[in-house]
Amino acid sequence: MANNKKQPDTKPTEDLIRACPKVLLHDHLDGGLRPATVIELAEKENVKLPEKDPQKLAEWFLRGADKGSLSEYLEGFSVTTGVMQTEEALSRVAYEMMEDMKKDGVVYVETRFSPLFHTKHGLSHDQVVESVLRGLKNGARRFGNKFGLIICAMRNTPPEHSLKMAELAVRFRNQGVVGFDLAGDELGHPPKDHLEAFHYIQRNNFYITIHAGEAFGKESIWQALQFCGTHRIGHGINLKHDIMDQDGKIIEMGNLAQYVLDRRVPLEICLSSNLHTGTVPHLRYHPFPIFYRNGFRVTINTDNRLMSGTSLTKEFLLGVENYGLMWRDMERLTLNAMKSAFFNFPARLDIIYNVIKPGYDKLRKTLQNAGNTAINT
Ligand SMILES: [Zn+2]
Repeated sequence: MANNKKQPDTKPTEDLIRACPKVLLHDHLDGGLRPATVIELAEKENVKLPEKDPQKLAEWFLRGADKGSLSEYLEGFSVTTGVMQTEEALSRVAYEMMEDMKKDGVVYVETRFSPLFHTKHGLSHDQVVESVLRGLKNGARRFGNKFGLIICAMRNTPPEHSLKMAELAVRFRNQGVVGFDLAGDELGHPPKDHLEAFHYIQRNNFYITIHAGEAFGKESIWQALQFCGTHRIGHGINLKHDIMDQDGKIIEMGNLAQYVLDRRVPLEICLSSNLHTGTVPHLRYHPFPIFYRNGFRVTINTDNRLMSGTSLTKEFLLGVENYGLMWRDMERLTLNAMKSAFFNFPARLDIIYNVIKPGYDKLRKTLQNAGNTAINT
């Protein structure tokens, strides 16, 4: 992974990682609320909470998430979506997300959610999306970072709901919505059940990412790519079964993995989330380093910051501690993410050349001036 720039060999620290420009492609809006905001909104909305103290509530979410099963992991969302039922609450959560991203050094974020869960108090799907976009735009204006919104359909709801979400995404494409996703429990709900929605998106020249190969095998990734026309894969970790045998030994790459590699299909990797849902028993068994070393277009993501008690900085730190990532790897992963964003091409180039690259150049200079002159190219 060498490049021709002099690289400081200082191990990335949490503070410096936070200061580096980062890009986040896979983050759920309803999985990233501040605990204090959940409490305030719950009081206003008369929603019952298991804990009233922000710290204890954060621990409750984490405990619920860290049970080793995706379906149990998803339970915390009934609480967060329960307090996101008014225009004001939706805008506030979106605005605060942009502020949290700014504090974490995220210069571009693609946040996602499903409007299907926010109509209990009578809001229309359009009102839900408008409210979230209002919060995101106000946040972007105030904090100077950029965003794209992805509309999720849910794999366990009827296909006609997915089509509605696809139509909604396309309707708001010029107002900040950049793509369409299929989320939810993978088991028993293959992506090809929702073909009509995906074909609608394709016919409208719009963008698709699909949660696939997380709780179900590599067939789910194959369907997402070859039936549904996805442009990115959420998680995708079961692609390892096309690369490795049961004992983790690398075998000859299968046609699916080769396709993903050759077509530069981005994989949205979420380390903490995979650990909490039990997709991997320990991070040492995570295929991320295999994908990365073999040149796959991998990106590092948070998935659900509240449920997993994480941030993008913390996810990179996990990469440093578990897989020995260095600064050049962080820059490469960040460029991977920006290249894979659904943001328009000139805007992607602008962030790459005017924000990410200068940010890493500055970091290299700072570290070298601070005496970390050992070079690791
Ligand atoms: Zn996700």
